[in-house]
This record gives sequence, C-alpha cells and structure tokens, in this order.
Amino acid sequence: MRWDLVIFDCDGVLVDSEPIANRVFTDLLNELGLATTLEETMRDYVGRSMASCMAIVGERLGRPVPDGFVDAFRNRTADAFRAELHAVPGIEAALDAIADASLPTCVASSGEHRKIRLSLGLTGLLPRFDGRIFSAQDVARGKPHPDLFLHAARAMGADPSRCVVIEDSPLGVRAAVAAGMTVLGFAARTDPGTLAELGATTFDDMTRLPEMLSGTPRTSSRRTEEGLKRD
Ligand SMILES: [Mg+2]
Repeated sequence: MRWDLVIFDCDGVLVDSEPIANRVFTDLLNELGLATTLEETMRDYVGRSMASCMAIVGERLGRPVPDGFVDAFRNRTADAFRAELHAVPGIEAALDAIADASLPTCVASSGEHRKIRLSLGLTGLLPRFDGRIFSAQDVARGKPHPDLFLHAARAMGADPSRCVVIEDSPLGVRAAVAAGMTVLGFAARTDPGTLAELGATTFDDMTRLPEMLSGTPRTSSRRTEEGLKRD
C-alpha cells in the first residue's frame, strides 16, 4: 500500500506529554474540589478537546467551571512541559525513515495550536511538520468525530481511504475509523486490547513504525481477506 498521507496524533504519539498533562489536570481538579485520581483522568479526558473536557468537568461539579481554570491548566502545563517534555522514544528515527520514503505527513491533534507548537518546538520536532498542523480548533467537532482527520486529509489533498493515522487514545482511534482511515494504535501507554477492539493494528515500539507502514494492509482489504479465509 502506498499511502497518500500519514497523519500523526501529537500527544502520546510524537511527544510523551500525557503523563505530564494528566498529572497537572488531576491536581487542578482536586484543587477544585472534584476528587479525581490520575487513572480516572487518563480514562475520562485523554484524547478530548479542551471544550469537551470542560463540559464533563462542569457536569461533575454541578456548576460552571470557574473562570481561570483553563488558563491555569495551560500555564501550569506549559511550565511542566518546559521542564520535563521529551519526544516519544524512537520517533525521530521513524520520521527520518518516513521522510526518506517520501511519504507525506501531517499532525492532527485535539490540542490547541499554541500547545501543539509548544510541544513540538520543545522537542525539536516542529520543523518536520511546520505548515502541516491541524487542531480540533479548526473544526466544529473534535475526536471521536471524524471531522479533524477528514479536514486534514482534504487540506493535504489526500483520499481518506489512503490515509493512515497513528493514534494512542481510544477516542482518536474511533475518530480515524469513522473517517474511513486505517489506524495504527501506539499502545506504549494505552491498553492495546482496547485500541485493537476499536479497529487499530497495535504496536508499542515507535522504531517499528516504518516497517508497519510498509506492511500494513488497508483495514478494508484485511477484513476482506479474513472473510475469504472463513468462507
Ligand atoms: Mg494522543
């Protein structure tokens, strides 16, 4: 399969940001009086847009989220990223190999543009994607809706059925499947069984990405082959 486009999620796929951002978010929820564990934050908020996260928090609080909560989260996360953020191990070599194969790439993230650029800038990855970064801010509905991935494909001139998405969150896998795209589920920090159930082919070592891109059949053709074998 010669892909039209390789679409990368940002958090958890390019940069190892989820442990940091979720720790900060959990601290803020507890300070707000909403007793929350890190595990609950990872389960309930990972992969969502900020607007979607705030809707959930407001519902659980039973009152509007106070002014300043989002700004506090942004500021504290940015400080923590500056101190701690690293690229996902193996991603630079994988991106080198993908560039050598002349495969077009882009980023499609639930994060806001400012945060995506900060994360990629701090980890040295920004020059690899500059001008090809898409955010949930750009569309009406974020993941798990397909809008962001379809928007990225359209902007890049790619046929969705010939796009492959690299995702680490269940919501992101659902969005990519809904967009009719093939999904490789990066399960270094997420449950591979959950990603696979949702339709992803999973892997947990980013250095394997180039070989997976050259060997992964399209979701539809794999299903057809399995169907033929059963008959
Ligand atoms: Mg992610």
